[in-house]
Amino acid sequence: MIIMKFGGTSVRNAAAIKNVRQIIHERLGQRPLVVLSAVAGVTDLLEASLPAAASGNWSQVESILEQLRQKHDSIMRELHSSNPVYDFIHAELEKLRVLLSATESIRVSGRNISQAVLSVGELLSTRILADVLQQEGIETEYVDARKLMIARWDRTRFVPDTKQLSGNCEKQLHPLLNDGRLIVTQGYIASTPEGAPATLGRNGSDYSAALFGAALRTDEIQIWTDTSGILSADPSILPQAQPLAEMSFAEASELAYFGAKVLHPSAIQPAVSQGIPVRVLNSGDPGQPGTLILREKTVTDSSIVKSIAYKENITLLTVRSGELFLSPEILARFFNHLTEHDKKVFAVHKSATMLSLTVENADDLPHIIEELNHGSEVSIEKGKAIVSVVGEKLCEDPHLPGQIIGLLESAGVKPDILSHAASQISLLFIIEEKDIEAVVKLLHRELVEKVDA
Ligand code: ADP
Ligand code: ASP
Ligand code: MG
Repeated sequence: MIIMKFGGTSVRNAAAIKNVRQIIHERLGQRPLVVLSAVAGVTDLLEASLPAAASGNWSQVESILEQLRQKHDSIMRELHSSNPVYDFIHAELEKLRVLLSATESIRVSGRNISQAVLSVGELLSTRILADVLQQEGIETEYVDARKLMIARWDRTRFVPDTKQLSGNCEKQLHPLLNDGRLIVTQGYIASTPEGAPATLGRNGSDYSAALFGAALRTDEIQIWTDTSGILSADPSILPQAQPLAEMSFAEASELAYFGAKVLHPSAIQPAVSQGIPVRVLNSGDPGQPGTLILREKTVTDSSIVKSIAYKENITLLTVRSGELFLSPEILARFFNHLTEHDKKVFAVHKSATMLSLTVENADDLPHIIEELNHGSEVSIEKGKAIVSVVGEKLCEDPHLPGQIIGLLESAGVKPDILSHAASQISLLFIIEEKDIEAVVKLLHRELVEKVDA
């Protein structure tokens, strides 16, 4: 049995959905369970509808609702969707309007409302795909993932209950699977033990796919997207970036954590726990082998640097203690405070009297730091980026940090922090956001292309 997860780009329009139908059809012998994202751009629209409603901007809400209706109507028209599907989609969009109208009336969107709003996209896309497969004569079962994936709120995010998922899959999915039915379910969405809506974070369908894979102990977890696997760099910066045949779980996790959007950062973990291979494949070119992510790689590559990732919108925070040392209490207070405010800390560098750390999306950081009343001198620099070069053998090359600094210097770029991540398989540094493109291109040319050539 395999998991086939299709991302939003793979179901972006009717033609793409027909293509997905074909891909699934050809793999029915592998007994797939299909995990689907919302149609591309839909979750962005849903996310934008919340502040619009909460600020009373009803005309913007109307425009978003209209875009959602048109997008799905045109897909359903082209796919000749059945009447019950049209009714389902329109009823869900009507429920969405009611939620947003309530938000507009009270000028606030609480967690339950926002989670319900964000969940709509996957409910719509899966219903459409299940119908398309049914029309093809495939015995298909539309399963609502909210009945299987139970998640609890933990300070800043929903954490899925893997034990409960396994039990629910055993009870609810096995009878259907044993009956030879093809299951289509949603990625990204879940519900709380009380039945309230929940989501697993943006791009969370990859995570759902891996969780389902682990719960069902599948032979493989396939992530179908719009690139021919994990590439040596983000193709939007480097169109010539090449797919990697194989990666280790550790390399792929590192890459996802430091910004490669192709995989959700948590997605690998459930696969690691069961040792299930993950394959990243291109729905636009299904014949390509893609990237196989394994516990241990079986091929040796020529270059030490496998891939280069970057993360934008980073703020560099430097804390200088007035005392002789930065006490553990100050450090603990800093980290706890940032976590409470849902600030993800990435690279950290510490000396006796100074602490540098990088934080994502930190427009409200000055206010948060002020609240702390810490008695230390703090500087906040916005507009930074983390660049990380990833490869399992990095630590075997003692010259690499020096080589990177030399290359950056030649391009007139001075990194703020250069450090090995704790895992030793990625080397990261902080640069100005404006330098991302030049730096990624330069490092790719010198550390990947020249070595592979
Ligand atoms: P999906 O809709 O399938 O979930 P995403 O848009 O979330 O797809 O992720 C795929 C995108 O990730 C690619 O189109 C590409 O722009 C981006 N990306 C960034 N870094 C990489 C990389 N190293 N390899 C492949 N894709 C990458
Ligand atoms: N639809 C959700 C998002 O856009 C989840 C996903 O696509 O993985 O973030
Ligand atoms: Mg994605």
